[in-house]
Amino acid sequence: MASSKVAVVTGGNKGIGFEIVKGLCKKFDGVVYLTARDISRGVGAVSKLQELGLKPKFHQLDITDQKSLNNFKKYLQENYGGLDVLVNNAAIAYKVDATEPFAEQAKNTIAVNYFSLLATCHTLFPLLRPHARVVNLSSSYGHLSRIPGQKLRDKLSSSSLTEEQLSGLMNAFVKSVEEGNHQAEGWPNSCYQVSKVGVSALTFIQQRAFNSDPRQDIVVNAVHPGYVQTDMSSNKGDLTPEQGADAAIYLALLPANIEAPRGAYIWWDRRIVDWVNKPDDLSL
Ligand code: NAP
Repeated sequence: MASSKVAVVTGGNKGIGFEIVKGLCKKFDGVVYLTARDISRGVGAVSKLQELGLKPKFHQLDITDQKSLNNFKKYLQENYGGLDVLVNNAAIAYKVDATEPFAEQAKNTIAVNYFSLLATCHTLFPLLRPHARVVNLSSSYGHLSRIPGQKLRDKLSSSSLTEEQLSGLMNAFVKSVEEGNHQAEGWPNSCYQVSKVGVSALTFIQQRAFNSDPRQDIVVNAVHPGYVQTDMSSNKGDLTPEQGADAAIYLALLPANIEAPRGAYIWWDRRIVDWVNKPDDLSL
């Protein structure tokens, strides 16, 4: 058991995450963990895959709960001694007609989509083995062009941006929403967009760190899965969840020592997309 390769998907009980688990069960040479914050939803999802003849394993994981993250880390460490694939899929999005105050939406969205993804990485990255693959679910809303302010765009796209500085910018957005001046400061009027721009920018910082990590060939990419029919999109969207999982599965299974994509922003059709200068053929 200790020598098995291990893949982990967060938010695997439904939507794109469920389909990523399904695809990895078919293609990954190792053990695949479907994780979910709610045990009964997670176990139910595992049963559905078992009915298809697949054999995912289950572990509870709420990415907003550091205790849950620590428990899972300990479990992986004790049972496998490492981690080979991490797909950071779990996220939230308020509906356009949500009645919660915008400041509350901003605080929660940045907390889950950016800071909890970051906490997941801080907790689990020490387990990554050489040649590990990390996939961060971003969005077309996570393209830099979503940020109206040029000064903010310059900071976010700087090749010397640190994780601490990026987290500072995410906190600054939440504060400016509380103060009612986020648009004057150059932010968009969408907390989901800011959270996903944060995920994209974080991905590039993480790859720079992996490039000088003593563990060889660890690769992280950000992916826009497409506009996908899930609960998050109220089942609108152009792609089925299975189609939306394709690019993330591809990135999770990138072969050893591949030159590209590494630290890139990937479109649902597997294309590498320029994150700073929007290509003309990209409708955003
Ligand atoms: P979804 O159907 O709403 O599923 C989201 C998943 O994340 C659910 O399993 C949910 O669990 C889980 N989750 C939420 N908070 C969590 C937490 N604190 N801990 C652990 N799991 C948590 O969304 P989706 O459309 O599949 O989206 C998957 C990813 O793709 C997200 O990162 C999303 O932002 C991104 N994306 C989606 C689209 C689209 O068109 N659908 C487009 C661009 C990007 P529960 O069931 O317990 O709530």
